[in-house]
Amino acid sequence: MNDPHRSAPSIPPKAHIDEAVRPTVAEIDLGAIRANFRSVAAYVGADVWAVVKADAYGHGAVEVGRALVSAGAKGLCVALVEEGLELRRAGISAPVLVMSGVYRDGIDEAVDAGLTPVIYDRAQLADLRRVAQREGVVRVHLKVDTGMSRLGVTLRELAAVAEQLASMPHVKVEALMTHFANADCDDASYTDQQIARFDEALAVLRRAGIEPERRHACNSAGAFRFAHARYDFVRTGIALYGVAPFPHDGPALMPAFSLRTAVLALREVPAGTPVGYAGAHVCAQTTVLATVPIGYADGFFRRLSSEAEVLVKGARARVVGNVSMDMASVDVTAIARTAGVAVGDEVVLLGSQVGSAGAGLIRAEEIAARVGTIPYEVLCAVSRRVPRQYRDR
Ligand SMILES: *Cc1c(COP(=O)(O)O)cnc(C)c1O
Repeated sequence: MNDPHRSAPSIPPKAHIDEAVRPTVAEIDLGAIRANFRSVAAYVGADVWAVVKADAYGHGAVEVGRALVSAGAKGLCVALVEEGLELRRAGISAPVLVMSGVYRDGIDEAVDAGLTPVIYDRAQLADLRRVAQREGVVRVHLKVDTGMSRLGVTLRELAAVAEQLASMPHVKVEALMTHFANADCDDASYTDQQIARFDEALAVLRRAGIEPERRHACNSAGAFRFAHARYDFVRTGIALYGVAPFPHDGPALMPAFSLRTAVLALREVPAGTPVGYAGAHVCAQTTVLATVPIGYADGFFRRLSSEAEVLVKGARARVVGNVSMDMASVDVTAIARTAGVAVGDEVVLLGSQVGSAGAGLIRAEEIAARVGTIPYEVLCAVSRRVPRQYRDR
């Protein structure tokens, strides 16, 4: 077993993401994210807290968080305590709001790390009282449910919760917040109702003697459409990543995420040749097929089988056959004839490309429409297997 003549395998230390062996990468344009931040801030004319939950919608929370704080974000919002801890470990000292659940001793961990927990349920008050007594003072944001029916103290319970909070001298309710369910829907009436309930909630707090320094309610769509609901700051996520949350209002935005790979193999096959698992596509004529090293394990949805288009030499080509776990096939017949296609040529699945056959852009919105989902899910789906590389202009 222990062959002294065999040298130990040489395993390089954990590769830096820039040293990815496979050419499949997500390129993140921090300059575009900063520019989007400036456009959003100018458009809404209020403070902006940047939402970087879910690894900044797949873009990388630490890098994006740093870029956005340097661009002027007054705070960062995450969903999980774990996400907040990641930012703190990276040395980001800006205010961080933990918007979703603080499980088990999550309040303790959040407070110890200088994160701001959101109180959304009466059941959290006992823990809050305990932590606040230990700490001297704990600052929290209080969330009310004005119509999302997901998280937040209901208006029915609010007076009782406010009374208890008022009796905790060590707890400072720094802000009152809510979340809109329909801000990106054509009909604005539901959001108007939510805004009215939020104002009612503020009055309930005041009656209990609680005067939050700040109020916030808007996500990206809300921030663009409901000027009177911007309050003290807005919490924007998707717009900062260059996706318009509502097509009819808002500033110009630039996509920041591109998903790129390169042709792994090429073959010309005769008419009648089936492609990939289950022969889901059969070539109708002589076809040049390019195999690309990206599959559903990377977040390139299997639903995109024979559906998606990609860019090769700046021109569009169609994915044919079933997307498999690690690979997909692209019909590059037309481009091969006019511009030539070689192994190693860049293939863009999301983002822009300029080449000898044209210039194109594939947005997350396009992929989402083909998959039957929303652009948020397209961006979040790109898996950990795809290294993120950062470009800063
Ligand atoms: C995700 C989230 C946001 C940001 O929403 P976008 O539509 O991405 O701007 C704001 N507030 C809360 C509570 C959220 O969960």
